[in-house]
Formats: sequence, C-alpha cells, structure tokens
Amino acid sequence: MKGPYEIIDARFRDLVLSNVSLRRISAGHLWTEGPVWFPAHQCLLFSDIPNQKIYRWMSDGTVNVFRENSNFSNGNTRDREGRLISCQHGTRSVTRTEHNGMITTLADRFDGKRLNSPNDVVVKSDGTIWFTDPTYGILSDYEGYKATSEQPHRNVFRLDPETGRIVSVARDFIQPNGLAFSRDETLLYVAESGRSHDDNVPAVIRVYNVSADNFLDNGRDFASLDQGIPDGFRVDCHGNIWTSAADGVHCFDRNGVLLGKILVPETVSNLTFGGVRGNELLITATTSVYAIHVNSGAVTP
Ligand code: MG
Repeated sequence: MKGPYEIIDARFRDLVLSNVSLRRISAGHLWTEGPVWFPAHQCLLFSDIPNQKIYRWMSDGTVNVFRENSNFSNGNTRDREGRLISCQHGTRSVTRTEHNGMITTLADRFDGKRLNSPNDVVVKSDGTIWFTDPTYGILSDYEGYKATSEQPHRNVFRLDPETGRIVSVARDFIQPNGLAFSRDETLLYVAESGRSHDDNVPAVIRVYNVSADNFLDNGRDFASLDQGIPDGFRVDCHGNIWTSAADGVHCFDRNGVLLGKILVPETVSNLTFGGVRGNELLITATTSVYAIHVNSGAVTP
C-alpha cells in the first residue's frame, strides 16, 4: 500500500488511504500542540507553546495568528456551544473564550493552591470539562514560568463550568497528559508521559471506567508505545485510538492492539480530526503541522 504507513495489522489498511500524501501545512514553529477543529469556521487552531501564540489554519491553506499572547497555551478543545477551551501554562489556568471574544478563567486553583500547568482538556457531553495538570509548564521558563509546584499530586481534574468547582478524579500519575473519552463515554483514556524525565516510567496510555456520577475507577494500562511517549491522542468513529508518538501517529484498536502507524518526520505531540468531511488527520509535530486524509474520522463519515 502506497503512503507513509507501517501496517502492522491488516485491519489498518481499511483505516487509511492510498494515493494520499502527508502534507506539511504549517512550519517554522518551536513546539506545536493543542490542535482543535472548528467545523463552523472550517479552521484549525493550534498552539505554539514557546512562541506564546495560537495559530489558525484555514482549509484554503492560509495560516495566520489567532492569538498573539496565548500565555503559553497548550491543549485546546471546543465546548458544547462551540467555544474555545484552552489550557494555559503561563497563568496556570483553564480558560474559555466567549462568543464575544472575552476570555474567562474557569479554573486556576485546587484546594486553595495554584494548579501546576494544565496541559490537555476534553469536554464531556454533559458539559463537564476534564483536564490534566502535570508540571511541564513550571519546570523551566521555556514553556511557561519556572515555579515550585503547590500541588501534592499531578491530577486529572473534572471541572463543572457552571459552578467552577473542580474535583480530582485521578492522581496516580507521574505526569498525566492527553485524554479522551470512548465514544459512549463509559471509558476515559489518559496518557502517562512521565517517561519524558524518567526512563523507568512506562510509556503508556491508561484507561479508566467512568461511573454514572462522573468518577473514575479501575485504572489500568491500555496500550504501551514502542517509540517515544504518548502525549495527545483522539478516539475515532470506530473506537480506535490514534496517538502521538516519536515516529508518527500510532493507531490502536479498542482492545489496545497496535494496528499501524502513519510515519511523520518530526516527533508528534498531538492530533485531531478535521477537514470538510471530518476525515483529515491534522497532526501537530514539533516545528510543523501536518495533514493527511484517512478512511476514518471523529464522526461517522
Ligand atoms: Mg500534551
């Protein structure tokens, strides 16, 4: 099969396309992250963390700056009203950009103490906002402002945007990172990226059962990477997990079986599905953003 693929399981052939190429759609960045697709505007927003900017890629190929001072924004997502939700290292907060453009701080403290540096975020269908809080944004002045952690744990949090209340739902991580729900939201997948600073930490995506009252239990390893560290990832319309890795994007089935890889020439940090038909994989990878059409997507094609 032609294309930038490593096919490990024959099922992967049905998830990718031949005669497509990996296109570099933006370049010259320092560390790209936080890709989020806005269907109504047919645009991708993504962070360049060290450059403190959020960029916008339009489906006509145009790239421009969406936000000049992003406060070292990292992960981004949309809420149920289509508003931008962002993790910001610089302010150690999670924010929402309102329909009128004003920015609202949704959370910057837990238990009276400052958060570490919110990293990645996802919104559940009930409107609750789930985010991870590792220490990457306070380890140096490169991706935030160097500071001492005030939190005894690196938590996964659930935030109620109506009340502002945040609850720790998992704290058994060295460094929690990307996160995503299964299609039916009975499972939450969370990346453990602590291997970035400690070779003894396994490079795994973990999975938890989500209870009816929005707590997590039965945390266990879901899949481990053979190249690099899991950072951001997405679940497709079939329940497969497409994750960042050192050599590209790895695709696992719902049982954690590695199906194949899309090989990318730079270390991948995150990805999302977008494009006119929702079947374009948009990949943030170190200094660039790449795009490739696949035979899958975030919604049933
Ligand atoms: Mg991340």
